[in-house]
Amino acid sequence: MSKQRDVWLREVGTRDGLQSIATIFPTAAKLEWIRLEAAAGMPEIEVGSFVPPKLLPQMADSAEVVAGAKRTPGLRVSVLVPNLRGAENALASGADQLNYVLSVSEAHSRANVRRSVQEAMDDFRRIIEYRNARPEFRHVRVAGGLATAFGCTIAGQVPVSEVFDAARKMIELGADEIAVADTVGYANPAQCRQIFREVLAIVGDVPVTAHFHDTRGLGLANVDAALDVGIRRFDASLAGLGGCPYAPGASGNVVMEDLVFMLEAMGLSTGVDLDGLLEARGHMERHLEGESTRGAFVKAGVPKGFVLAGDDVASRGGRA
Ligand code: ZN
Repeated sequence: MSKQRDVWLREVGTRDGLQSIATIFPTAAKLEWIRLEAAAGMPEIEVGSFVPPKLLPQMADSAEVVAGAKRTPGLRVSVLVPNLRGAENALASGADQLNYVLSVSEAHSRANVRRSVQEAMDDFRRIIEYRNARPEFRHVRVAGGLATAFGCTIAGQVPVSEVFDAARKMIELGADEIAVADTVGYANPAQCRQIFREVLAIVGDVPVTAHFHDTRGLGLANVDAALDVGIRRFDASLAGLGGCPYAPGASGNVVMEDLVFMLEAMGLSTGVDLDGLLEARGHMERHLEGESTRGAFVKAGVPKGFVLAGDDVASRGGRA
C-alpha cells in the first residue's frame, strides 16, 4: 500500500547520471534499473534524453527505454528534450512528460546550445504549441527547466532577476511544471531560500522542482533550505551517479538514497522504500565499469530506533 506522499521525487540518474559517465549502459540494464526503482515506489523517472545520438550515444536508445518503462504501472515516464525536434520524437515515443531545459545564463546558453536565451524560450513556446495542437498529446505534461539558475561556469554569477523573468515567461507560455536547476553545483542554502521563495510566488499553483548537484557537498543542505520555503519536489540520482568523463572531481546529483533517508527521518513521506532503492543501486553498480558512485546511507544503514515518516512505532508491529 502506498502512503500519501509529502514529497514527490524524480529519479534522474538514468538521464543526468548516465549521460555524464563514459560507460554505455545496455538498454535491458536500464529497464531493469527502472523496474526495480519503480517497484521501490519511485513515482517518476527521467528515463532518457532526446538529443542527437552522435552527441550523447549513452542516450541513443531513449525511445526504446520509454517504450519499456511505459509497461511499468503507475510510473510517470519523463524525458529530457533540448529542442522541438527532440520534443516531437519524445511525444512519438509515448513519454508522459517532457522536461525542456533552458539555460538562464546567456553565456552558457550560447556556448552550450548556440542559442540565445530568447531563442531557447521561443523553442519552448513552439513545443507547447506543438503539444496543444495535437489532441493525442494533450495529456502529456511539458515542464520548463531553468539550468544554471544558481551560477554558471562561464559567466559566474547569474542575476536572480533573469531566473525570475525566465520562470515568469515559462508560466505565461503554459509550463506544467518549473524545475530550477543548480547545473554545476554552485548553490548554497541562503541562495536557495531566496530563489525558491520568489519562484513559488511567481508560479502560483504550478509545481516547482529543485534539481541539485552535490559538486561542493551542499546538495542536502540545499534541499533542506528549499524545503524550508515550501518546495516539495526534488530530482536526485541513485548512488549520486554522474559527473563528467572529462572533468575529474565533478560530481553528480544529490544521492537518492541519502535524500530519501533524510526526508523520511524528518517526517516527510516519500512513498519510496529504502531497501528497494538499495536493491536497485546494487543492480546499477554491477553494470558500471570503474565509475565512481557515492552515498552515505548505503554504508551506514538505518540508525537504531529509526521510524519512517507517517509510521508510529506501534504500527510497525513485528517489523525488525
Ligand atoms: Zn543536472
